[in-house]
Amino acid sequence: MDLYSTNNESLKVDLKEAVLQSLPADNGLYLPSDIPSLSSSFLQNLQSYSFEELSYIVAKTLLKDSIPDDILKSIVRETVNFQAPIVPIHDNIYSLELFHGPTLAFKDFGARFMSRVMKYFKEEDSELFILVATSGDTGGAVASGFLGVKGIRVVILFPKGKVSPLQKKQLTTLGQNITAIQIDGTFDDCQAIVKKAFLDQKLSNDFTLSSANSINISRLIPQSFYYFNAVAQLKAAEEVVFVVPSGNFGNITAGIIAYQMGLNVKHFVAATNINDIVPAYLESGKYQPQQSRATISNAMDVGNPSNFPRLKKLLGSTWNNVKNKLKGYSYTDEQTRQAIKQVFKQYRYLMDPHGAVGYLAAVEYLQETHFRGPIIFLETAHPSKFKETVEDTLNVSIEIPKRLSELRHLDEVYHQLGTDYYGFRKWFRDHFENSSTI
Ligand SMILES: *Cc1c(COP(=O)(O)O)cnc(C)c1O
Repeated sequence: MDLYSTNNESLKVDLKEAVLQSLPADNGLYLPSDIPSLSSSFLQNLQSYSFEELSYIVAKTLLKDSIPDDILKSIVRETVNFQAPIVPIHDNIYSLELFHGPTLAFKDFGARFMSRVMKYFKEEDSELFILVATSGDTGGAVASGFLGVKGIRVVILFPKGKVSPLQKKQLTTLGQNITAIQIDGTFDDCQAIVKKAFLDQKLSNDFTLSSANSINISRLIPQSFYYFNAVAQLKAAEEVVFVVPSGNFGNITAGIIAYQMGLNVKHFVAATNINDIVPAYLESGKYQPQQSRATISNAMDVGNPSNFPRLKKLLGSTWNNVKNKLKGYSYTDEQTRQAIKQVFKQYRYLMDPHGAVGYLAAVEYLQETHFRGPIIFLETAHPSKFKETVEDTLNVSIEIPKRLSELRHLDEVYHQLGTDYYGFRKWFRDHFENSSTI
């Protein structure tokens, strides 16, 4: 498998380089040079494959011989080891529940796949250090995804007092190859330290550092699997519409890759909160990044979606081409809360704020187009991840699934540092100089 940079089609690298570097030197994004079609017999018989089998076939077709078959098989098995069921809500509207993984959000798929692919590509007897700054959620998915992966250590920096109590538990109770550091500062301070570490020759002479950046192509690839699996769960292989609650537009980009491999999708619908840069672009043809604004669907509070260049390239670059395949709608917090209420009252289905934005877009799309086939919105997080908002909207109390709530009883283990980079570097050397996980 070859990949090119969205800024320069002649800059080509192999999967190993794309995964270990995350970003090309020209600041573009990596995309596969060739997106092969799946066989029509596979596409017409999706129902006869398990989630794992189907994911392996998709991965093998896209990655070609970048990873040996037996290793790719076990990577896929460990990635899709929880279900992604579709649940009918009403009419032809379905929810694709992507929150059955360890940290209750779809990001578990990407983090699990990336960790194992990185392990395969890293130098055999060297230890790889993943540095992550987090404001809460991403760090939890990355920590869980890399937990127990041999030869890779994850060092997570989180800001003191700025992550929720349960998020803090997710970062600090795993142990093993996961080390958490509480920084007496803000998320930006955490990020500044990580950025300096990557540029610090002295540190990288002695340690191999890498990032678990959301832009990494290995996080996108597994997100295409569940689009196939969703269609497989429908009774007939008809043309479908996918609605994707979007922030950085990685999830929807993975769907477009699935479409280009042959999945029968009529439209993709980008559903956003008031951070509506892409819906506004579809309306006007002008792409205008903005400062992000805070909402109750905060994983989508993005003012300059990082995957937009990928999405645009995949759909054919011009506004007309993009508009042909992609619709976009945006909603306020008030509308989102109304949808959570209405769907709970009428259909007894509990949605998180991100899924609710998707649901609203599904309803609007159906009204506008009179489409009669199945329309599937991605439920990207478990409602209990946004417990306060959902409880406050519905006046009911929501249970946190056991796999998360049981963390409450575990002891938190973390180091504490200030915002000074050299303090961090000294700590890092002292702490890891003689340690090894291999
Ligand atoms: C990350 C996230 C999103 C946005 O996904 P993108 O790939 O950034 O568009 C939506 N919902 C939830 C719950 C998320 O965690």
